[in-house]
Amino acid sequence: MLVAGQWRAGSAGTFGVADPSTGRELARVPRAGADDAAAAVAAASAALPSWASAAPRERAEVLRRAFDLTLARREQLAFLISLEMGKSLADARGEVGYAAEFFRWFSEEAVRVGGELRTAPAGAHRILTLRRPIGVTLLVTPWNFPLAMVTRKLAPALAAGCTVVVKPAEDTPLTALVLGGLLAEAGVPPGVVNVLTTDRPAELVGRVLADDRVRKLSFTGSTQVGRSLLRQAADRVLGVSMELGGNAPFIVLDDADLDAAVDGAMVAKMRSGGQACTAANRFFVQAAVAGEFADRLAARMAALRTGPATDERTELGPMVNERQVEGIARRVEDSVAAGAKVLLGGSRPAGLGYYYPATVLVDVPADAPVAREEIFGPVAPVVAVRDETEALALANDTETGLAAYVYTADLARGLRVSERLEVGMVGLNRGLVSDPAAPFGGVKQSGLGREGGFEGIHEYLETVYVATAW
Ligand code: NAD
Repeated sequence: MLVAGQWRAGSAGTFGVADPSTGRELARVPRAGADDAAAAVAAASAALPSWASAAPRERAEVLRRAFDLTLARREQLAFLISLEMGKSLADARGEVGYAAEFFRWFSEEAVRVGGELRTAPAGAHRILTLRRPIGVTLLVTPWNFPLAMVTRKLAPALAAGCTVVVKPAEDTPLTALVLGGLLAEAGVPPGVVNVLTTDRPAELVGRVLADDRVRKLSFTGSTQVGRSLLRQAADRVLGVSMELGGNAPFIVLDDADLDAAVDGAMVAKMRSGGQACTAANRFFVQAAVAGEFADRLAARMAALRTGPATDERTELGPMVNERQVEGIARRVEDSVAAGAKVLLGGSRPAGLGYYYPATVLVDVPADAPVAREEIFGPVAPVVAVRDETEALALANDTETGLAAYVYTADLARGLRVSERLEVGMVGLNRGLVSDPAAPFGGVKQSGLGREGGFEGIHEYLETVYVATAW
């Protein structure tokens, strides 16, 4: 693990990281114990004053070097992501590019943090506002984008002048460890970024959050764990950013360009094997085109080559672990029992590795598990709807609100639907919403705060107001 610029073993032993393509152990990594947690927070706390007061340009240039180095190591990082997480090499290369862009974007934002000067309404006084880094921050990240979910938090935190403890997911700690080394090469001073690994996340995260020196938590992961961390953060009134689960509707209206809609559906559904929080989870297609859309989507999904993630020919790799495959299989089986029909796939292959086939379900009842719960796999449930109103009602009938997709040839209609969708992000005739220059985040139980865009850096800054007699 990386603490105070030094590599160290874990005081609680080690744990294994599996290759999802075979289920075999790939590597053993340190398991952080109480001593490591305290050392990492101490290092981040000691490094804070000088990093927070470093010239913004200096922080920006470190981030810019991190951008260059990440791209220079694209192949190595992509291979590692594929190996430990199971996404195809093409997807992993895409992730490295996306991850690197957060360094570039926030290197540009680091030098643009401003305050404000206003005249008090009564005229006599001035209202001066300053921004300063919130302080030592804990970043807890999921396995589905082992690099990008870390850089999406780390880059704005460093740009703002915060120091961090990163806790990557237990399934994919290797990429985060390599990133720690890369950042040191980019010129991040010792202690500014610390990386702790563990397969006992509740214990470690609890320890770090209880430490008085920690001022902020940024979490990406499931809504269930997010809720429990919000409760813990409440005890210390910590600042929080939460990027939680999704259940994205993908709406295809009857005037849509079906070629574009199927292309968009392939991206929205199949990127990272369907293991994205923004993944299209429910397809609501107007009845006149529902049959044709489902057939065309099934043909495209059937043509995907499945295999070990690091095989250059693979388009759909394994899921990350056995638990995920079981969850997908259960949702599909229960949905079929509830009346859904299998157009493609629908059953687990035998053999090694955590594979689940590309699957299309039609005639899916609106209350079937695949339509209500986040699937997090290569399963596309298609529901035929009468009209825009029914599509919207079904789309919004959920407690989550991260992303949604709408396909229509009529831009006014598309904007009308976009405005009514209860989500934080809409792909309008686009199957991909993620963009480092755009505010990423959810409404309802999908989260609090935004990552990327102009908003992203403000998650790591606080406002100080100085009442001024001029
Ligand atoms: P998860 O909640 O199980 O784990 C996320 C992180 O939390 C991991 O680092 C894990 O070790 C840690 N964790 C797990 N249990 C914990 C506990 N009790 N206390 C403290 N930390 C704990 O989620 P996951 O399975 O790794 O990721 C999938 C979920 O993440 C999906 O729901 C997906 O939608 C969501 N996700 C959201 C976004 C977003 O930006 N909104 C992005 C990617 C993934």
